[in-house]
Amino acid sequence: MTTVITGGSRGIGAATARRLVRDGHRVVISYRQAADEARALEKELGVLAVQADTANEDDVARLFDAAGDDITGVVNNAGITSPSGPLAQLRTEDLRRVVDVNVVGALLVAREAARRMTRGAIVNVSSGAATLGSPGEYVHYAATKAAVDAMTIGLGKELAPRGIRVNCVQPGTIRTEIHQLSGQPDRPDKVAGRVPMGRPGEAEEIANAIAWLLSEEASYATGAILRVTGGT
Ligand code: NAD
Repeated sequence: MTTVITGGSRGIGAATARRLVRDGHRVVISYRQAADEARALEKELGVLAVQADTANEDDVARLFDAAGDDITGVVNNAGITSPSGPLAQLRTEDLRRVVDVNVVGALLVAREAARRMTRGAIVNVSSGAATLGSPGEYVHYAATKAAVDAMTIGLGKELAPRGIRVNCVQPGTIRTEIHQLSGQPDRPDKVAGRVPMGRPGEAEEIANAIAWLLSEEASYATGAILRVTGGT
């Protein structure tokens, strides 16, 4: 039972790696640049870490090659937000990079999974932004995550006859480094007042939802989009 987690070196991906190792998965994580964090996780958890840019198809193929031929789980998690700001102020190259990682990358990973898996489950990591739209900050990012939702619905149907389930988690605002990268390190605490549950989420709370969707307990769930947003 091997599970591949893209963007597994920190944040939601790393929390998911910890949870899945506890659940008995053999875990392979990918990372783009954070080699030190990835090596530390290899040591801590006994996972295999592979450097791979998910927006690059050769890298994605190499990641799956490294994972071997008994892949039963894929967590399509790697994603970026930055830069943030009103759409009118964003540069074309930044928009293209967010689309490249969040849409093209997610499709390349899902395609590789569809080619290689013979059973099991894929969980895509979208965002609550997909239906909220994130005006003033992340309209471009929200659009890419809506694409991830659409891919989940379509691929869920496409792979159901082959016994592969495809589901999606939409996290709300979660305390991870993604907010540092987009220049808003205090965003999780700032948005807390707008969250019905009154606080940002923790990466482990998303990892738990991902673990459930991967597990046999979710055996009749496919094409599902699970919001884990504290009620937002
Ligand atoms: P993070 O920045 O802490 O971690 C992102 C991970 O993705 C890192 O391991 C990074 O190396 C990797 N990554 C980024 N670009 C990559 C690429 N091109 N190829 C390979 N790996 C790449 O972020 P996080 O908060 O843990 O985010 C994980 C996922 O959750 C993302 O898809 C993000 O959009 C989504 N999400 C996060 C939040 C939040 O508030 N943190 C909310 C909604 C959705």
